[in-house]
Amino acid sequence: MAVIVDARVARFSLPLREPLRTTRGAITSRPGALLRLRTDDGLEGWGEATPVPGFPGPDAITTARVLEASARGLVGADSETLWPPPIHPTSPAAAFAIETALADLAAVRAALPMARWLGGAAASERVAVNALIADADDARVATAKGFKTLKCKVGADSLEHDMDRLREIREAAPQPVRLRADANQAWSVPDARRALEAFSPLGLEYVEEPLRDPSPSALAMLARQSGVAIASDESAVARSDFEALLATGAVSFCVLKPSAIGGLVETRLRAQACRQAGVEVVVTTGLDGAIAGLACLHVAASLGALPACGLATAHWLERDLCVLPPVQRGELAVPRSSGLGTAPDSSYLAELGM
Ligand SMILES: [Mg+2]
Repeated sequence: MAVIVDARVARFSLPLREPLRTTRGAITSRPGALLRLRTDDGLEGWGEATPVPGFPGPDAITTARVLEASARGLVGADSETLWPPPIHPTSPAAAFAIETALADLAAVRAALPMARWLGGAAASERVAVNALIADADDARVATAKGFKTLKCKVGADSLEHDMDRLREIREAAPQPVRLRADANQAWSVPDARRALEAFSPLGLEYVEEPLRDPSPSALAMLARQSGVAIASDESAVARSDFEALLATGAVSFCVLKPSAIGGLVETRLRAQACRQAGVEVVVTTGLDGAIAGLACLHVAASLGALPACGLATAHWLERDLCVLPPVQRGELAVPRSSGLGTAPDSSYLAELGM
């Protein structure tokens, strides 16, 4: 028995080094909340709730309130009997934070890295990651660093502009480097058809979220007509949407963001459903801070071999909760120490009053 005696939540905001342009506007900072659970035998578990912009769910302030209330409800409970967690907060990011902190506690207690604790012997020790790039110069830098998969946002400019940029990127990073494009629901069906047709000679691994109105049947038809593999992300956040999409066979890849879909358990369940349906899984952060980033890395690793995941996002942040392992040759090594492997920096915690 290990009773939770303290649950503390502190809000933070992590500035980006430079604004990240998306079709929904520029992101300049990432506001979120940090959770610390303590047990009566002195162990600590950490979690982070940083809601993803443009995804369903409450904003950062409401998320922090939901997290506080949910975490308070855990005080007095035996942490060893809390997996899977019996509570389901109304904020997916808060649910993710609570699951992360409980899994951190449990994995530390079991003296296992969180990935091993979640996935057993199937867990990977390294996870391939993609580089998020904007142009051919970025592509050259990323491939020189050893990234084997590149991802580029499209849809914010004209198709001609996107096409020129992608062609230059492809020249700078020829196959076998994999190239992905994410349209973040920018296009109508006719525009998406034109775009995918234009992109077809570039041999993209997939195009993510091409449609503004992404019904499963419209996505399935687009995939059939274009011959370009399609990935889902923000259109399949609700479980019912995810299930409908899998049932139509519209997508070849499914992006899973633990902070947007509600945590580690949900991510692993959906990954299992994807595999049964022959759909590849890509785990990504939502440009979260390092505690959520580590949790994403562990849950990705717990699933065994995956296509390159969207976990190399820490460099976008000017400041972070702690230092993440560096990307080496396009891979992240999963921390070998128990639990998440790292706690937030003590100087940052002091600033937050934790
Ligand atoms: Mg996406």
